[in-house]
Amino acid sequence: MPEVLHETLAELRDAFDDARRDPSFWNSYVALMANYAGRPTPVTYCDNLTRRFGGARIYVKREDLNHTGAHKANNVMGQGLLVQRMGKRRVIAETGAGQHGVATATMAARLGLECTIYMGAEDVERQHPNVFWMRQLGAEVVAVTDGTRTLKDAINAALRDWADSMADTHYVLGTVCGPHPFPELVTYFQTIIGYEARRQMLEVAGTLPSRVYACVGGGSNASGIFTGFLDDPAVELVGVEAAGKGIATGQHAARLAGGQGRTGVAQGYKTVFLQNEEGLMRDTHSVAAGLDYIGVGPMLAHLHQQGRVRFESATDAEVVDALRVTMRSEGIIPALESAHAFAGAFREASGLSSDDTILINQSGRGDKDIFTVADALGDEGWVDFIRHKAEGYAR
Ligand SMILES: *Cc1c(COP(=O)(O)O)cnc(C)c1O
Repeated sequence: MPEVLHETLAELRDAFDDARRDPSFWNSYVALMANYAGRPTPVTYCDNLTRRFGGARIYVKREDLNHTGAHKANNVMGQGLLVQRMGKRRVIAETGAGQHGVATATMAARLGLECTIYMGAEDVERQHPNVFWMRQLGAEVVAVTDGTRTLKDAINAALRDWADSMADTHYVLGTVCGPHPFPELVTYFQTIIGYEARRQMLEVAGTLPSRVYACVGGGSNASGIFTGFLDDPAVELVGVEAAGKGIATGQHAARLAGGQGRTGVAQGYKTVFLQNEEGLMRDTHSVAAGLDYIGVGPMLAHLHQQGRVRFESATDAEVVDALRVTMRSEGIIPALESAHAFAGAFREASGLSSDDTILINQSGRGDKDIFTVADALGDEGWVDFIRHKAEGYAR
């Protein structure tokens, strides 16, 4: 981290330590998530999927039913409360596909904070619906034209802003990466998923899950649900990364599964990155924009080294298949990111017995993926629809 930010990071660390020692802070967070975001999200038993795979009983934790449609709201609303506690009036954030930007803009609107979102110019063009919603929610969206005009350039621009504005501004980091205390801070808020899920499995299934599956981009939804079960040694934890077009093709985002990641230091933290021999960051690929990232949460990399979390991967093709099966069997539309966790679970369900239970973290809902999924499924009516819309505007 640039030296100018050291003092601000220390201030954030102290504010977080203070908040976490104060039980009323966690209670105010849980209350906000209950009456604003609709928590607790349910755990749903999936009888049709269970019968289809013929092994373990399959349960799904429904973060798709959280406000703004994913687990991201847990982190941003929590950081919002911390911002109020620190007495700052403005927030900034980086965003790639735009989901974290929309969640942050939502929080800022609700809590009455000024909001600036940094987004690579390339992403601003590719993800127009999210840019539209961020602006409607009152955020300023800055298109970053440096470098490759994507996420890492947006992060650098956000850090430059922060170095100039830290007296009244908080940087809302989107996942369990970056400098301390962010990995711990974001995990802290996301553990609400794991605490709820553990209690709900005991209520709904009458037992703890044999295995818990979560997709891993930066690693926040996985860290959130896994933390609820870390002290239960019988519960196996499985993280599923993006194998993209296949690990062997090099076009993927699997840092821990597949063994291509190497330890390094970048953007203020040490973890396993996808990098080349010279330490330059590699290009990553996934059909799911939220998993398309070079680094992974340092705490997850540690749990991988310890053998507490097993890492697997799923290809784009397996993920689209898992999505199709889940939609048809249960009337649930997982986000493409979440569909990685489903794909990993489906592969292993039949190897377990009907005494076993599997819990899949559905990190978000798939409505946002309509462009990508319609394309992947080769839906011709969709192409006609887009063409007619465009012709309508041209007239
Ligand atoms: C952003 C996102 C992810 C990836 O982020 P993590 O920090 O790895 O959880 C996964 N699922 C959904 C729905 C997302 O929006």
